[in-house]
Amino acid sequence: MTDRRAAEPLLEIKDLRTGFWTEAGLVRAVDGVSMTIANGERLGIVGESGSGKSALAASLLRLIGPTSGEILCGEILYRGRDLLALSEDQMRSVRGGEIGMIFQDPITALDPVFTIGDQLTETIRLHRRVGRREARDLAIQALTDVQIQNPAQRLDAYPHQLSGGMRQRIVIAIALSCQPSLLIADEPTTALDVTTQAQILDLIGRLADDRGMAVILITHDLGVVAGFCETVHVMYAGRIIESGPAAAIYHRTQHPYSAGLLGSLARLDAARQERLSPVRGMPPSLIDRPSGCAFHPRCDHAAARCRVESPELISHGGDQLAACHLAGQLDLAGLAGGGAGLAASGAGPIIPQRSGATG
Ligand code: SF4
Repeated sequence: MTDRRAAEPLLEIKDLRTGFWTEAGLVRAVDGVSMTIANGERLGIVGESGSGKSALAASLLRLIGPTSGEILCGEILYRGRDLLALSEDQMRSVRGGEIGMIFQDPITALDPVFTIGDQLTETIRLHRRVGRREARDLAIQALTDVQIQNPAQRLDAYPHQLSGGMRQRIVIAIALSCQPSLLIADEPTTALDVTTQAQILDLIGRLADDRGMAVILITHDLGVVAGFCETVHVMYAGRIIESGPAAAIYHRTQHPYSAGLLGSLARLDAARQERLSPVRGMPPSLIDRPSGCAFHPRCDHAAARCRVESPELISHGGDQLAACHLAGQLDLAGLAGGGAGLAASGAGPIIPQRSGATG
C-alpha cells in the first residue's frame, strides 16, 4: 500500500462540502472532507446512517439532485482533472466509463421493465463504440466475469426473475462492463444474506485485483471492510474523524467513535456470553451540529474542552489520523472489544448489530 500511495493519486478530494436545503435549514452532509485514493487501492468509508458517507459517494459522481442539494465547495481531482469543472456531457462519460458505481439495493438499481441484456448492452454501447453484436458478446463476457451461469440465456431475463445475489452480480457486471479504473460500492452487500455478502465481496475483490481497479467501499459496518480494505476512513457528522491503514484502525483505534463501532460487532467465534457495547445515543443533527467535537454528547470520555473546541484530524503518531483531543491518551481496547483483531483474522464471519451503532 505504501508504494501505491506514494504514486500520483487516482482520485484526490480536497475540502469537499455538500449541503441539502430543507425547510429547517442547510443540512451539511459532507463538511470538509479531504482524502486520496491510489490506483488499485481498496479504501473503506465507514459510518452510521446520516454520517454523510453516501452523500460523499454521490458528490464524487456529481449525482446530487440540483433541486435540493448542492456541492458547496471543494475539488474532486480524477487523474488530475477537476470533476466539478466538467460539463454534464463530459461527466456522463466519466460515470460508468471511468468510475463505476454499485448501489445498495440491486432491485432499485435495475429497471424492472427491461431485460438484463437491454440494460447491460445499453451501458456498453454508451461508453464503448461497438455495434449491437459486439455489445452482446461483451455483455455475455461481463456476466461470465461475475460468475453468472448460462450468461447468454440470462440476457433475456428480467430483474424480478433473479435472486438478490444474482441481481447484485448483474449490477456489478454493469458497473464494470466499461472497465472503470475506480469502483464506488455504496453498501453493496447490505440487502443480502451473510453468505451472499461474503461471496459478493470476494467477487469484487478478485475482479479489482485482476483489473488493477481501485475500490471505494462504503458501509455502516466496520466488519465488512475488515480483510477487504487497505485503508479506512471513519465518518461522523459529515467529517472524517479517523483514518489510516485498516490494521491500525482495528488494532489501535484512537477515536472513541471508531472504538464504539468496533465494540458493536458480534463475531461467531467469540465467547457466547460476550456482551456487545454499541455507541449510545443517536447521530447529531447536521443542521445544528453540537458545539466543539460533534461526538461529545455521546462520548464517555468528553472533557470540558471537547464541548467548545472542534478537534482537527491530525496524526498522533504514525500514518493514522484522528480528530480527538485525547487521541493516543485513551485506552480504547475494552470498548473496541469484539472488533479488535478482525483485520488480522481475515474478518471471519461477522454479524453487525443493526441497532444503536448502525442504521
Ligand atoms: Fe470524545 Fe472529546 Fe475525543 Fe470528541 S474530542 S471523541 S468528545 S474525547
